[in-house]
Amino acid sequence: MGMPTTPVPYDFIGDVLITPQQIEDRVRELGQQITRDYQNSDHLLILGLLRGSVMFITDLMRHIQRPMTMDFMSVASYSGTESSGFIRIEADHKTSIQNWDVILVDDIVDTGYTLNFVRKLLLDRNPRSLKICALLDKVERRKAAVPIDYCGFTIPDYFVMGYGLDIDENGRNLPYICSVNLEKYNQRSQP
Ligand code: 5GP
Ligand code: MG
Ligand code: MG
Repeated sequence: MGMPTTPVPYDFIGDVLITPQQIEDRVRELGQQITRDYQNSDHLLILGLLRGSVMFITDLMRHIQRPMTMDFMSVASYSGTESSGFIRIEADHKTSIQNWDVILVDDIVDTGYTLNFVRKLLLDRNPRSLKICALLDKVERRKAAVPIDYCGFTIPDYFVMGYGLDIDENGRNLPYICSVNLEKYNQRSQP
């Protein structure tokens, strides 16, 4: 697919893996699928993991034609680009989830440690139902099993950024998903 043709705000962008059009089309499909699957539910809660899922969720919810509400929680599992396997709750969700059909949304499933941990935590809180939606799935990297009910795209083992996903908090604003050129990234001059 190559480099984008318009000027880019980062010099460590690798290849564009998923274009804005591909994202838009797939997110619409997921929203339509969720609309169908939850047509008998008036208690749909989209529960996102901060911060990577924010852009995905704001687009996804435009295509959910059911009553719904939105909440977030924040967990920490990563420092830089390596998973620690250690998960800590930084901020919990506000809604009491007992009466809700919950869809837990994250940007990407890598080792699976994060969603595996959060899923068990939420199940202990007795939601009416719980499903998982992830924009991206790096299948090859899985260490902990996670049932992904709604998956945007399966991707190879690249470190990616854009469309909400960051590298050290940079890159979330990009409208596409691209690999990070780690060599260039590590050589960059610090702002
Ligand atoms: P897991 O616990 O599944 O190993 O990691 C999940 C979290 O790691 C994701 O929510 C995301 O924050 C981060 N992560 C894993 N792979 C990538 C990647 O390629 N790019 C970015 N930006 N974050 C990633
Ligand atoms: Mg995350
Ligand atoms: Mg991150």
